[in-house]
Amino acid sequence: MTDKTINGGCFCGEVQISVTGRSEAMGYCHCESCRSWAAAPVNGFTLWKPEKVKVTKGAESIGTFHKTERSHRQFCRICGGHLMTMHPGWNLIDVYAAIIPDLAFQPQVHVHYAEKVMAIHDGLPKMKDLPKEMGGSGDILPE
Ligand SMILES: [Zn+2]
Ligand SMILES: [Zn+2]
Repeated sequence: MTDKTINGGCFCGEVQISVTGRSEAMGYCHCESCRSWAAAPVNGFTLWKPEKVKVTKGAESIGTFHKTERSHRQFCRICGGHLMTMHPGWNLIDVYAAIIPDLAFQPQVHVHYAEKVMAIHDGLPKMKDLPKEMGGSGDILPE
């Protein structure tokens, strides 16, 4: 059985990205950094092993900004649309759910809920920050 490949891309289409197989996790990040950078109240994430993410077009148009070593945020330099965040410490790439609309987005968790500006009552676990295995407290907050 071959793994399914799903294509996505930036707002203008200059940068095209594909993801293959299964993601490691999906959910919503409420942290101040994601909100401020995305100019959005919450960010839908999908985490992948680096070998499952490929830039299939427009690699030369990708810009990268990192405020901290934890998160290298990538965007299209033509349209400014956001693409993904490299997390070198976790060896994972967050491909924003919004740029791979054909992927069935199945969020399992909310992270950094202590920083939220928008409460979401969907019954999913609300982590205060991050799971323990990712360096967080593992604490769960009420919705
Ligand atoms: Zn673009
Ligand atoms: Zn975040």
